[in-house]
Amino acid sequence: MAISGNTKLLGIIGDPVEHSMSPDMHNRAIAELGLDYVYVPFPVKPDNLGAAMAGFAAIGVVGLNATIPHKQAVMSYLDVITPEAQAIGAVNTIWRSDRGWEGTNTDVTGFLAPLRDRAASNPAIQRCFDRPLVLLGHGGAARAVVAGASQLGCPLVHVVGRTPEKVEAFVRSWDNSPIAVNLKGHSFSELGTLLPEAGIIVNATPIGMHPQISQSPLSDAVAVRISSDAIAYDLIYTPSPTFFLHQAQRQGAIAIDGLEMLVRQGAAAFEIWVGQAPPIETMRQALRERLGLA
Ligand code: NAP
Repeated sequence: MAISGNTKLLGIIGDPVEHSMSPDMHNRAIAELGLDYVYVPFPVKPDNLGAAMAGFAAIGVVGLNATIPHKQAVMSYLDVITPEAQAIGAVNTIWRSDRGWEGTNTDVTGFLAPLRDRAASNPAIQRCFDRPLVLLGHGGAARAVVAGASQLGCPLVHVVGRTPEKVEAFVRSWDNSPIAVNLKGHSFSELGTLLPEAGIIVNATPIGMHPQISQSPLSDAVAVRISSDAIAYDLIYTPSPTFFLHQAQRQGAIAIDGLEMLVRQGAAAFEIWVGQAPPIETMRQALRERLGLA
């Protein structure tokens, strides 16, 4: 599709943003549907965020993704924020409406999609949702996992981190949240007792991400405590599988990597901007090609 004066603008703001894979995914979906849109990476320094948002409004940008370091900071430039994004404390999807800039967080939808897909094809998986979820890490992505755990109905989220004060602050930050969830904080040394009961174990740390592919948040001695009927979910998408997922598979657990979360958060954003269902397989394939997995 040729770009013209009528072409509608979408994009991603970040710093850095040059290596984002979102343009691959969205421009392939746009081409597949024959739409007159283009998705552009916009490098925006933190000090320029306000000016950039005003500029995007002035030139009629239709929708944006926000990535590091703007996911929290951009919230102060939005006119409407969904309750879920407010509770998570971060926005990754922004669109222009007659109310101004609106924002939400589609990482929760992305996180939940592969779990719900599996439960739809195998109802026994639902039982994993009725057991505690062990969450490794307590950064931005972990907040979407907590919101997702609430939607799944998980009875308890064990938050595991290396800095007790940060773990405690994360747990406390949900105290007055509209998201109903039961959280307990732990150190990594407690994993041996937490893992056998866990229905879902989520790695929301960067441990094991390329190029540190031989690392895992779990030692081999602790990983054997993973139950054979648990789900191990790594938010990392390269390598696939990560060493953590490899350890879990050795115990017979189901392994889910972060690629589908990335695809489905993007698909949810696309649908908000364009108002029609995106070709998810095309988006998935674009990412697989970009990652050299195709
Ligand atoms: P973040 O905000 O920087 O949080 C990272 C978390 O990992 C923090 O709790 C940090 O704890 C912990 N951590 C880092 N290194 C550690 C180590 N060596 N030992 C123990 N804990 C460690 O990052 P994020 O945005 O949440 O991202 C986390 C991971 O999720 C990344 O791998 C990212 O690529 C992935 N992710 C995937 C998707 C997707 O769509 N698939 C989306 C978002 C994120 P401290 O504060 O103690 O350092």
